[in-house]
Amino acid sequence: MTKLLDGKLLAKEIRNEISSVITNKILKENKRIPHLGIILTGNNSSSIAYVNNKIRECKNIGIKYSLIHLPINTLEKKLLEEIKKMNKNPYIDGFIVQLPLEKHINQDKIILSINPKKDVDGFHPENFGKMALNMKTFFPATALGILTLLEKYKIQISGKYTVIIGRSRIVGRPVSILMSRKSYPGNSTVTLTHSKTPNIEYYTKQADIIVVAVGIPKFLKGRMIKKGAIVIDVGIHNNNEKKILGDVDFCSVYGKASYLTPVPGGIGPMTRIMLIKNTLTAALNNREK
Ligand code: NAP
Repeated sequence: MTKLLDGKLLAKEIRNEISSVITNKILKENKRIPHLGIILTGNNSSSIAYVNNKIRECKNIGIKYSLIHLPINTLEKKLLEEIKKMNKNPYIDGFIVQLPLEKHINQDKIILSINPKKDVDGFHPENFGKMALNMKTFFPATALGILTLLEKYKIQISGKYTVIIGRSRIVGRPVSILMSRKSYPGNSTVTLTHSKTPNIEYYTKQADIIVVAVGIPKFLKGRMIKKGAIVIDVGIHNNNEKKILGDVDFCSVYGKASYLTPVPGGIGPMTRIMLIKNTLTAALNNREK
């Protein structure tokens, strides 16, 4: 029997906790409601959908947001100016620049220009480095969402063998760091695989836990896992029939895995709520009022 890991339900619980902190702490102390800044460039439909979902989450919880939507041909200089404004604006607690960026913009330069104290995506090298060194910082939302979901379902990761498919800096790499750190949750033995890994099945068939963030619909098949494995599906794909698919072939994995995240309703809602949680943390950390 495969049990589904319900990210939607857990995100709802965390949403209520955040609302309660806003009502019972921030507003009672006469402080401002947390405020998230979002900078979006261009017309990429997935990016627009991600941003709309983040805005919906802000509205649901009742935190403030400001969206700066720049046209597709925006120059790097203009984007850097907008980031500078967000860095300086005392009313913005944290902000994100929605990735990916257009090819003419240097992504590293953009990430480096964000004030690490407001970097609620946790992508700035200062925050990423702190995460790698097991210091307190903002953790990237998807990785934090995965760990929080596993923790909620009391899934032991310490001493387990985890295989991650995909090494992107927004998902696979941070998940590998957090799952292998000497901390709780952590202490997993991690193999990080990618497009140059020969015979991925060799690793996945031995894994206790598999995190799939490969960006290919139905990539992980049931025959690639051992019975009872825990499978986390990060992928999101809108196919032609408007059905959302993951990176896991749900039909063949369901029944063989012990736990599986559904798509939708698994890691997506957890990612969004963790961004809001990081924004709340930034608001509590950074300001007097
Ligand atoms: P990405 O930046 O495109 O990275 C994909 C990774 O998969 C790369 O490391 C790549 O290897 C690896 N890869 C590609 N083909 C492979 C193959 N045949 N075998 C093994 N590895 C392969 O993707 P991402 O941003 O991490 O996103 C991954 C998926 O998660 C996407 O579907 C995305 O939409 C989804 N996503 C969901 C959420 C959420 O909230 N649920 C958040 C973020 C992303 P190389 O490094 O060698 O190129």
